[in-house]
Amino acid sequence: MLVSAKDMLQKAKAGKYAVGQFNINNLEWTKAVLLTAQELNSPVILGVSEGAGKYMCGYKTIVGMVNGMIDELGITVPVALHLDHGSYEGAKKCIEAGFSSVMFDGSHYPIEENIAKTKELVATCNELGLSLEAEVGSIGGEEDGVIGAGECADPKECKMIADLGITMLAAGIGNIHGKYPENWAGLSFDTLDAIQQLTGDMPLVLHGGTGIPADMIQKAISLGVSKINVNTECQLAFAAATREYVEAGKDLVGKGFDPRKLLAPGFEAIKATVKEKMELFGSVNKA
Ligand SMILES: [Zn+2]
Repeated sequence: MLVSAKDMLQKAKAGKYAVGQFNINNLEWTKAVLLTAQELNSPVILGVSEGAGKYMCGYKTIVGMVNGMIDELGITVPVALHLDHGSYEGAKKCIEAGFSSVMFDGSHYPIEENIAKTKELVATCNELGLSLEAEVGSIGGEEDGVIGAGECADPKECKMIADLGITMLAAGIGNIHGKYPENWAGLSFDTLDAIQQLTGDMPLVLHGGTGIPADMIQKAISLGVSKINVNTECQLAFAAATREYVEAGKDLVGKGFDPRKLLAPGFEAIKATVKEKMELFGSVNKA
């Protein structure tokens, strides 16, 4: 059964570790993340962007697939199914389809409008027992065509949004989506510290977890980050493993063209990436 991300993130914040959000793209992705979480006895959040939602034939298809897998694979660790960077309309659709968690990304609205729309969703999510993530300060890089410049959030705005009754708060602290450029300045721990000082127990979310050095991840966790989003890194691992299989000509040997064989190295590569992240984030055996 899907659960809200609230309990797992409050425990993570109190225990000074982070729960990974791993974005899914298809059946193999979902199976790889769920099985790894179960093997490591770790709570997990499955992230779905609106683009990936469309790709996987809509939110209802995803809810059916994930619930089916939890049952058929005997997954007993806490699993939240979460809309990543949702629009206001997208969030409502996911709630209707049976997601257990949504993010409303109102960071591109003026703060007043972000607050008004977030408030409405807080009421709906509270009534249904779902978790809600909000964002302050646009997070850089490109995600589903939305491009931000990698800014740092205003801690006072973070406090205003946190006080609306959301479950977890994403705040820009110099992090970006996708691969980090060579000249990246690193995370702004002063900003993160200031945000945590004002928002107290609120679990903070770090987007763009791909390629942030391990020591920065650990420092971010020590300053209140309890959810870390990983997307690109699984994509890169999947693509590299698939490339290696094809370049080695393995698809031309025997029944190597069978999708169950062709996609297996990529599947294993996702599992290895998820395992590495869960160990780094400290969520192993915290289910
Ligand atoms: Zn993000």
